[in-house]
Amino acid sequence: MFETLSDRLSGIFDKLTRRGALSEADVGEAMREVRRALLEADVALDVVKSFTDKVRARAVGAEVVKSVTPGQMVVKIVHDQLVEMLGSEAKPIDLHAVAPVPILMVGLQGSGKTTTTSKIARRLKERDRKKVLMASLDTRRPAAMEQLKILGEQNGVDTLPIVAGQSAVQIANRAINAAKLGGYDVVILDTAGRVTVDEGLMDEVVEVKRQTNPHEILLVADALTGQDAVNTARAFDGRVGITGIVLTRVDGDGRGGAALSMRAVTGKPIKLMGVGEKSDALEDFHPSRIADRILG
Ligand code: GDP
Repeated sequence: MFETLSDRLSGIFDKLTRRGALSEADVGEAMREVRRALLEADVALDVVKSFTDKVRARAVGAEVVKSVTPGQMVVKIVHDQLVEMLGSEAKPIDLHAVAPVPILMVGLQGSGKTTTTSKIARRLKERDRKKVLMASLDTRRPAAMEQLKILGEQNGVDTLPIVAGQSAVQIANRAINAAKLGGYDVVILDTAGRVTVDEGLMDEVVEVKRQTNPHEILLVADALTGQDAVNTARAFDGRVGITGIVLTRVDGDGRGGAALSMRAVTGKPIKLMGVGEKSDALEDFHPSRIADRILG
């Protein structure tokens, strides 16, 4: 996870921390290299610029504490700035609403939406002791509905029985009613994905949102697609309004561009990250832990 970026940065900071004293020129040179490393990691240009400007401003004005070298001080400033860029605090899924709490999952096809839906359901069931119902609204791909059902069976989570011929909105309403009648705590609606963001997809999601009033709308995005993931999040947020992001395939992401840009560009928190194909491969997104990982 983020190995490529991490290696690059540690190369830059090793040079800096080995020195006894630092000039403004040393810090300037290091920041130029950091800028290059972040751009190569596919972090959005504006985000990189604001990041390096802030680090430089703080580094120049910083008083060096006796116990650390100036280089260590710069690394500490980079760390704190990374944490801020990643959103500062962890933002878990919010379930503070009247049960059954509706959660809407949105995103492009192949982003890992169905897998993530069942990962979240499993975690809510096992860790939070919640009674969870899942429903697939993917009326165009019967295989997707079947996939969710199988994942539910594997993880001991209920899925809404499949009824052929219903629209996404009809299925969503049926899911909410079933969840009310069945005494469920949470109902997770897995909307249909498309290969690209298209109007038909957005209209359908907006209508499902209007009818079900979800407490969380989570965009699932593939970390490996870098800035495309960020642009997808922006498009969904502009059209539907999202409350958070689940970044998938972080296990295979050496660069970290999507993870680092997402919060700053969209203003929405990454709540969770997918770190593998298995149904328990889901982790909270802790900005300070991610910064620790990136800075080794
Ligand atoms: P959907 O079309 O968005 O519903 O995508 P799926 O949930 O079917 O996932 C597509 C593929 O990505 C499947 O093979 C999943 O196992 C895989 N996948 C999903 N999340 C992750 C993840 O966090 N890490 C890895 N390595 N694979 C994932």
